[in-house]
Amino acid sequence: MSTGTAGAILTVDLGAVRRNYRAMRAAFSGAEVAGVVKANAYGLGIGAVAPALAREGCRTFFVATAAEAFKLRGLLPNAAIHVFDGIGPGEEADFAEHRIVPVLNSLPQVETWRAYAHAKERSMPADLHLDTGMSRLGLDAVEQSRLQANPDRLEGIELDAVISHLAVADDPAHPMNEAQRAAFAAISGGLPGRRRSLANSSGVFLGTAFHFDLARVGVALYGANPTPGAPSPVAQVIRLQGRILQVRSVDAARTVGYGATHRISRPSRIATVALGYADGYPLAMSNHGTAFLDNHEIPVVGRVSMDLTTVDVTDLPEGLAAPGRLVDFMGPNVSVDAVAERAKTIPYTILTGLGRRPYRIYLDED
Ligand SMILES: *Cc1c(COP(=O)(O)O)cnc(C)c1O
Repeated sequence: MSTGTAGAILTVDLGAVRRNYRAMRAAFSGAEVAGVVKANAYGLGIGAVAPALAREGCRTFFVATAAEAFKLRGLLPNAAIHVFDGIGPGEEADFAEHRIVPVLNSLPQVETWRAYAHAKERSMPADLHLDTGMSRLGLDAVEQSRLQANPDRLEGIELDAVISHLAVADDPAHPMNEAQRAAFAAISGGLPGRRRSLANSSGVFLGTAFHFDLARVGVALYGANPTPGAPSPVAQVIRLQGRILQVRSVDAARTVGYGATHRISRPSRIATVALGYADGYPLAMSNHGTAFLDNHEIPVVGRVSMDLTTVDVTDLPEGLAAPGRLVDFMGPNVSVDAVAERAKTIPYTILTGLGRRPYRIYLDED
């Protein structure tokens, strides 16, 4: 299949990913910026994104699950690969074989890895996650004091990063940021880790006090603004386009699409585009979205369906909207952040919700 026949096209600009990595490195005062490539690099395709980041000098990667880590090892034989979910009983040998670094999230996980190190008579690398306010993963306060009271629990574990995760990093004025930072600085200072890590994408912009040694950066690499409300320090990465299948004139007495949610109020031309929620264009854009054809803004009318979206092209110059033409739904004219805002969601779900169906083009010009 060529792009000339694809209904929906997703273009991923790897050059932009690399420039965004450079921009995050420039904004970060600590030693290293790690790339977070969980969930298939936030939907963009880990097979293309991770090697592009590695070419830009990224050496440390975080994924969520062991399965993601094993896949990444196949792509990057020399990278440092860390797993947020940590390690469970039975996974030790695979982690060791593939040189995967678990983020230990609880004393039972610490014990699993310590026991394996002891049995193999070698030291095993790990990160340690301290919960300072997410109440999700990481050692809670009780476990933290138990560990401090008995540091032998870490025997045989070669502790790399001691990490924590911010709950409201995208809201710089929120007092919880400083509370988490202070708690993290206090507890991590008493632990033997080689380095400390607190900031995600937004955390990098909270000031150098939040930087420590290692940043764990995801969404900013993929073009979402890590500083909501301020101009974005990163560039758009994706472009989602759909091809016009059909254009029809509709008289004033009809409705458009499922649920009959859009009523025609004047003689109109409606273009039907081969792009739907199965391609990653959110249902919530029904009657809300904006698309672009040759820099002309056109409204989404009616409900977005699985395979099709309808746009009102009445006001476009005659002949511009024709079968075969591509319409832009996300990209240079409509940022991922703007789509998320209109869909009343967050850019993370827009990116991870990109469909498998669009024909994918990876650009890699720097
Ligand atoms: C996903 C994740 C990150 C990356 O966050 P972004 O906001 O995408 O930069 C960092 N740390 C942890 C623990 C995460 O789960």
